[in-house]
Amino acid sequence: MPEAGSPPVAPRPHVLVVEDDADISGLLSRYLGGNGLRVSIAGTGAQVRGFAEPSGVDLVLLDLGLPDEDGLQLLRLLQGQWQVPVIVVSGRGEPVERVVGLELGADDYVAKPFDLRELLARVRSVLRRAPSSRTAPAPATSTNVWRFDGLTLDVDARRLIDRGGAEIELTNGEFQLLRALLEHPQQVLSRDQLMNDLHGRDAGPFDRAIDVQVGRLRRKIELDPERPRLVQAIRGAGYRLAASVHKD
Ligand code: CA
Repeated sequence: MPEAGSPPVAPRPHVLVVEDDADISGLLSRYLGGNGLRVSIAGTGAQVRGFAEPSGVDLVLLDLGLPDEDGLQLLRLLQGQWQVPVIVVSGRGEPVERVVGLELGADDYVAKPFDLRELLARVRSVLRRAPSSRTAPAPATSTNVWRFDGLTLDVDARRLIDRGGAEIELTNGEFQLLRALLEHPQQVLSRDQLMNDLHGRDAGPFDRAIDVQVGRLRRKIELDPERPRLVQAIRGAGYRLAASVHKD
């Protein structure tokens, strides 16, 4: 029991559970709360949009099937305005195409019925990989800048600047993918390697998640996304960044 005057404790990561089934959200709240996480619950899209403190949320668990709003629309809000990592929880019987093929760009996917321990492992994995907004370093002090093909990635500030000097917004998943490619320029990275870098596990049933993310990234960084030249697919092997990378 902390007393007044005891040393400050690091804040618990804050997970927002978006789920309209009260049994499931209650179960998640108890389980995640009992494992060192702070949990808030929103049962509708409206509650998410009205959430008082989006900047204090470190991760969102997003059920796609909500009563008042398609979870896909919420995902765009969370990744755009909120800039927060998202694990999508797909409903029973929802086709994988809906989860992966619609180019969600979520950080991970969990299908119902899920195993709580597995879910917790995914949550921890995403939290480890996503820098907390509360601890993000100030861009001005950054020296970790990588240049490739006329583009500039400030790794610490997570800012990508295009060939004309404008900022390109990246989701967390796109940023992690780009960083993984930039760390190994001119080398073929297998989907397993990329899955491990991005999600901490081998490519499995969601193998296509990497392909989807590559497609999204291409549209942001290729001069001609229809004929990608920078991020090349190597048949049967994986992907390769065809550029030299200069690190300041
Ligand atoms: Ca639901």
